[in-house]
Amino acid sequence: MPLKIYNSLTRQKEKFIPINPPYVGMYVCGPTVSGESHLGHARPYITFDVVLRYLTYLGYKVRYVRNITDAGHFEEEGREAEDKISKKALLEKVEPMELVHKYTNLFHWAMKQFNTLDPNIEPTATGHIVEQINMIEKIIEAGFAYVVNGSVYFDVKKYAATHNYGELSGRVLDDLLETTRALEGQDEKRNKADFALWKSAPQQHIMRWKSPWGEGFPGWHIECSAMATKYLGARFDIHGGGMDLLFPHHESEIAQSFICNHVQPAKYWMHNNMITINGKKMGKSYNNVIKLTEMFSGIHPLLTQAFSPMTIRFFILQTHYRSTLDFSSEALVAAEKGLKRLWEGYENLKKIKEENFDLPDDNDLDKKINSLLDELDEFMNDDFNTAKVLANLFEIVPVINSIKDGIIEKNVLSSKTLHRMKDALTVYLENILGLQSLSQNNETFDGVMQLLVDIRKEAKSKKDFFTSDKIRNQLAELGIEMKDEKDGNISWNAV
Ligand code: ZN
Repeated sequence: MPLKIYNSLTRQKEKFIPINPPYVGMYVCGPTVSGESHLGHARPYITFDVVLRYLTYLGYKVRYVRNITDAGHFEEEGREAEDKISKKALLEKVEPMELVHKYTNLFHWAMKQFNTLDPNIEPTATGHIVEQINMIEKIIEAGFAYVVNGSVYFDVKKYAATHNYGELSGRVLDDLLETTRALEGQDEKRNKADFALWKSAPQQHIMRWKSPWGEGFPGWHIECSAMATKYLGARFDIHGGGMDLLFPHHESEIAQSFICNHVQPAKYWMHNNMITINGKKMGKSYNNVIKLTEMFSGIHPLLTQAFSPMTIRFFILQTHYRSTLDFSSEALVAAEKGLKRLWEGYENLKKIKEENFDLPDDNDLDKKINSLLDELDEFMNDDFNTAKVLANLFEIVPVINSIKDGIIEKNVLSSKTLHRMKDALTVYLENILGLQSLSQNNETFDGVMQLLVDIRKEAKSKKDFFTSDKIRNQLAELGIEMKDEKDGNISWNAV
């Protein structure tokens, strides 16, 4: 079965046929770096990391572009629109770029914790002002945008007369226009459905650039159209993001790109569903936004303990990306146990020796394992169903453990199947799902510390105080205290 992807544009699963194989262009809307990344950021970037990993496994050469929104994301409230970053920078009395730098670094750090692969290109909105202005000029020239008081708006009503506005989100323009009347007179826009391509900067606005329409800053939607076109061309394979971006962000991207490039920008539009927390939508108004740093440390009223990034990654992948996903402390505790069990099984499997080379692989257990393994690719080909993949891996674990514990005789499974099982689990767990052992980092660290303890003991017994002191003092500088116990043992703890 070839890979099928659910396309939000056509609302059906479609066979994946890249525009220019083996190359695949994938654009994913990146974060607005006006604050710390929260749980809502984890799902899209982990989802599309697995898409990237699986396409690579299938042999495609993916150019993955994920932008950083460091300007242009604002709440559109009449003339007084203010850029989110500019607003926060004023509030914290720092340079906007100081803020951007800080939160971009934090975002990158969190993504590393989740073991996501780096995008090939990570363009920023502020680095592409010229491209955005060029695109806006084209839209004005084509007659689909108008200038008011130094701001430029996209004329949605005019666009909708000749194009299918709402094709992605299913929104009906008449309904959008309906809501406009109440605002009439207060707004520069001809219709409420119109969106800003460029905003004139009020005097106190610190982020501003020169443009043909005066000093201002770009709208949010235009940055993605400009950067996707620049790095992936007018038409590329996959455009991804969270479902909350369907409207107005992605709908607007399509409209802008149609006017400038006369083509639907992406062949496949993919959207991950949203997360809820204890059954409630996550949002400031519910007071339940959990930052990733709070998740990793456990310091949040809704959390009973700290959760490792791998537990969160595993928890996200246990549900298909198009289903909603409810976070709760209890569910994460269960996921943590599940990942531990799965990884122990994987470690045990690696230790089982292949010795039944003569055994044919057509006995019942071989057949069962092989059919479970055959299904892994089938599930992934069915719109990246990581949930079903993990369910199959969980069916394999008890078999591994039974062989290890001697409950199942070693000689019932052929070497051929055992070998295939080892390969498949490594490829799936590590390469495609991008999972890691929960204790991997700790185990390595503990091992290194034990080594230092042994060296120090040895040095002391040889009266080599230079070496033994050096180890103790240098560790102290790193915040690790080594103590000589009365019984001659050496203990340590990280302060
Ligand atoms: Zn975007």
